[in-house]
Amino acid sequence: MRLSFLLAGVPLLAQASVEQSIVRKERALGADLAAQTRLDSKLLGIGAISEYLDWIGDRLSKAVAQPKFNYRFDIITHAEVEEPFGFPGGFVFVPAKFFLAARDESEFAGVLAHVIAHIEQRHGVMAARVARIRDQRSPTIFFMGPRAGSHIGAQRTSVVMPQGQRELHLRNEVISDEFAVPLLVKAGFDPT
Ligand SMILES: [Zn+2]
Repeated sequence: MRLSFLLAGVPLLAQASVEQSIVRKERALGADLAAQTRLDSKLLGIGAISEYLDWIGDRLSKAVAQPKFNYRFDIITHAEVEEPFGFPGGFVFVPAKFFLAARDESEFAGVLAHVIAHIEQRHGVMAARVARIRDQRSPTIFFMGPRAGSHIGAQRTSVVMPQGQRELHLRNEVISDEFAVPLLVKAGFDPT
């Protein structure tokens, strides 16, 4: 009885170990990409605007049930980036101009929640795996923007993504929106 219980537990323990290893690798990969992004951008890391971003990001990331990652939010000043995006492992970047572009706090939080949803569900890494299996190149695999049809990832992928990958991308957009709504409600924002 006891032996069968122990044996039954082995695969679960092995799975947990593999899961932890994947999360660690993902975090390391995202950290490299995030470090490069910070080098390439003049970061606005001080002042009320940064505190405001941390405050919103903290509320949202704490609303994630059993989060896989710790989240870090940075402001960037790349002229060509319109909307927030994330890297695997919990790294979220928000263009300075988006603070003015968002209509209100709920929209601002909604876009961040959508990016968090992509990261939690590892959409960037999943897309990379699919691309590798199919031997396809995708320059946007770690670039996970917010809303279908409007964010920079969608705009870029409509040009460069092969059909199968684009379908995956669009499906992930819907999944992320569905993930983001309860997150917003739990964090005290209006999801409408
Ligand atoms: Zn998206």
